[in-house]
Amino acid sequence: MADISSETPVLIAGGGPIGLALAADLGRRGVATLLVEERENKVNPAKMLEVSVRTMEFCRQLGVVDKVRNWGFPRDWPLDSVFVTDLQGYELGRVRMPALQDQACLPVSPERGMPCPQTWFDPILQDYARTFQHVTLRHRVKLENFVQDTGGVTATLRDQQTGRAETVSAKYLVGCDGFASTVRDLLGIEIRGEPHIDWSMTIYLRIPDLPSQHDKGKAFRYVFVGPEGTWSFLSIVDGKDLWRLQLVDLDEGRLQNADIPALVRRFMGRDTAYTIEDKNLWVRKRTVADRFMDGRVFLAGDAAHAHPPNGGLGMNTGIQDAFDLSWKLAAVLGGWGGEALLESYDVERRPASARAAEVSLKNYRRLVSAAQRAEINSPTPDGDAARRVIGERLVEENEKTWHPVGVHLGYIYHPSPVVVPDGTCKPGDDTFGYRPTAFPGARAPHVWLAPGKSILDLFGHGFVLLKFSDVPTDATERAAAIRGVPLKVHRVEHGEAAALYARALVLVRPDGHVAWRDDLQPSDPLALIDTVRGAGPRIAARRGRSEVMRHVV
Ligand SMILES: Cc1cc2nc3c(=O)[nH]c(=O)nc-3n(C[C@H](O)[C@H](O)[C@H](O)COP(=O)(O)OP(=O)(O)OC[C@H]3O[C@@H](n4cnc5c(N)ncnc54)[C@H](O)[C@@H]3O)c2cc1C
Repeated sequence: MADISSETPVLIAGGGPIGLALAADLGRRGVATLLVEERENKVNPAKMLEVSVRTMEFCRQLGVVDKVRNWGFPRDWPLDSVFVTDLQGYELGRVRMPALQDQACLPVSPERGMPCPQTWFDPILQDYARTFQHVTLRHRVKLENFVQDTGGVTATLRDQQTGRAETVSAKYLVGCDGFASTVRDLLGIEIRGEPHIDWSMTIYLRIPDLPSQHDKGKAFRYVFVGPEGTWSFLSIVDGKDLWRLQLVDLDEGRLQNADIPALVRRFMGRDTAYTIEDKNLWVRKRTVADRFMDGRVFLAGDAAHAHPPNGGLGMNTGIQDAFDLSWKLAAVLGGWGGEALLESYDVERRPASARAAEVSLKNYRRLVSAAQRAEINSPTPDGDAARRVIGERLVEENEKTWHPVGVHLGYIYHPSPVVVPDGTCKPGDDTFGYRPTAFPGARAPHVWLAPGKSILDLFGHGFVLLKFSDVPTDATERAAAIRGVPLKVHRVEHGEAAALYARALVLVRPDGHVAWRDDLQPSDPLALIDTVRGAGPRIAARRGRSEVMRHVV
């Protein structure tokens, strides 16, 4: 029997990285939030190791990016990915990535992706979320059930220690409860794709001073290729002596009975001292839920889409969900967002997530695609030839996996009910390279306005109207004020930025995506504001440049 009753505007089920990111961003936006996590407050071992450039940009918005940058990964540790037969054997090829201290700034972002295992990353988000008195994080509390009606959601929670049940009323519920999502199951939402590609086993190994035991140099990961193709990868976790070995196999039984000493000897090419810190068996999958929302209930992160981890897109894509949803919830709870704003979450995030999941699967296929080569270990000219062919192919293909700025920055919300098209064609989708664009729906592109100050630093709270000439903005500001929409106008006198944004006026949303752009104020500023806040009839794209948006003021 439920014996306690409380209320909260937003209830989050699941305190993995996505639930924590959502709680943190809602906290920053002043939204009272309760997060419940069924586990105790401990992340061990880390699944996620690589934080993407876009996630780093969000961390910059939250003001925690320095913590993520400086958690302790050695700045002189090269981040190469090296294809080898074993650590004493042949090097087949290498995808180079300099050590943090040697990396140049990316021209397209004020940040760079970087290694930061979940064991460090999650606590950074958690500590930040806890700085807000209106955010409550409760561990060992499971969401068991909920019902919703037009007024809200009533959830049943159970304390995992005492067994006591309680009910909580929330305006909105977000299921950040992972692939086996209770929230998604209770909603009866199906998942599509490949729920079972194959099995994998992850083994965490403490290996003292591994780099001194071979001649391949320090690297972020070694990929081991045998006569049967790629059979495992070994990645550095803590920049010291904790390594993660991932085995690839189709057979659960074989993985479960894996002879770990023999595997370690195989990848080392000799005996070595090590301890096993942890191991777990998991299923590789690529799934996307049919819907990311139902009424007042939303799905985010692995609950909505699950990816093969190759290329580090799982959590990083989920973090984008959190940042898309959080300002929309804040807007609706704050009284200035309309119903279409919440509905746009599904319209925007489902295709973007499906895109990333597809790329993750391709990454995985490329990594394990080396054809079987009986000669791979042969000390003969035929062996040399085989190794050259395999190595070149692996390097060429996997550069796309590990340096894919396009997949992280190039997702565009188009079409979206809360983005106003400008009549130009959507740029072609490139999941590898990234060409900055201020096309409506795209992530507003980065430019340094001054040393250390990116144009991205202007975004993140309310809407921002960038003004690249002296065109008036008074009517738009008035319309925003009438509707209670937070809007700041920034006059930007910067040639490179003006060229990149390509219009005199560019309206950027609180999540840093372009909502509208034109050379003149809209003919009907209220219609524009109503569209982008999800409370009006959608403004159509104009032919050539939008007729609806013609300047009349
Ligand atoms: C080996 C491996 C390596 C990976 N590497 C990367 C990487 O480098 N980069 C990357 O971006 N991604 C990576 N991923 C993927 C990444 O780990 C996931 O995408 C990410 O953890 C998803 O976060 P989440 O918060 O959605 O779900 P989860 O991390 O699964 O968290 C969900 C949480 O919800 C809790 N929960 C479940 N049900 C309930 C309930 N009913 N009530 C309360 N709480 C509940 C669970 O206890 C859990 O803590 C990797 C995955 C694996 C397996």
